[in-house]
Amino acid sequence: FFSLNTLKLNKNYTDLEKDAHHMLNVMRMSLGDTFRIVDIDNKVYKAEITEVSPLTYLTIEEIDVQKSNISKTVICPLLKGEKFDFMIQKATELGADVFLIYEADRAVVKLDDKKRKNRLTRFKKIIQGASEQSKRLTVPTIEFVGNLKSIDLSQYDLNLFAYEDLNFTKSESLIDVLNNNKKFDNLSIIFGPEGGFSKKEIEVDNLSFVKLGERILRAETAPLYMLSVIDAVME
Ligand code: SAM
Repeated sequence: FFSLNTLKLNKNYTDLEKDAHHMLNVMRMSLGDTFRIVDIDNKVYKAEITEVSPLTYLTIEEIDVQKSNISKTVICPLLKGEKFDFMIQKATELGADVFLIYEADRAVVKLDDKKRKNRLTRFKKIIQGASEQSKRLTVPTIEFVGNLKSIDLSQYDLNLFAYEDLNFTKSESLIDVLNNNKKFDNLSIIFGPEGGFSKKEIEVDNLSFVKLGERILRAETAPLYMLSVIDAVME
């Protein structure tokens, strides 16, 4: 099936025209072709095109699909140039559910409200495209938040804080932490900017410090490493 992740079966759905164009002109789908739709409760259905102009479809049956039951929130500052675009695209493919962009003490990129709004529009498009491409059932959300301290980390079962100081005594290996915490369904993973975390930022409560191997990864690589390992170990 072609996966049409955004086709929400409710009154607020506004992208039908755009999705119809994508299906008919880009994917070259036609009468009788089937595709997947996801409703507002994330139930998945097989549907068939019964008319092309305007696009009309018939829902055939509900499909039972395997869904990930661990929610993963990526907490990360904005990165320079197109690195953040790259990271959110790949992290969406790798199963991130929420992106929170925090103001890091050593952030290189700082934006005013207008620029943030424009960036969010671009980020949402990237996430939408990556969700459709990877046939995800849900589209991750993204928002700007304040500094690390302003995020209520108590809402997560586990907060994996990727700390680049490889000699930090409180850090454990990621695999060990995951294996010792088999029962959780709401996880946050926290990363620093290009320049790393300030000393103040590591004083936040409720953190599990983890090392991602013995090499320092680029800021855009670290979340992708972490999501891949979580996927391999937990899902
Ligand atoms: N400027 C820092 C330095 O030279 O040590 C490196 C910062 S690194 C480019 C950006 C972020 O990626 C870090 O704040 C951390 O969250 C994560 N990171 C990179 N490599 C890591 C590792 N081996 N273990 C844990 N976190 C890592």
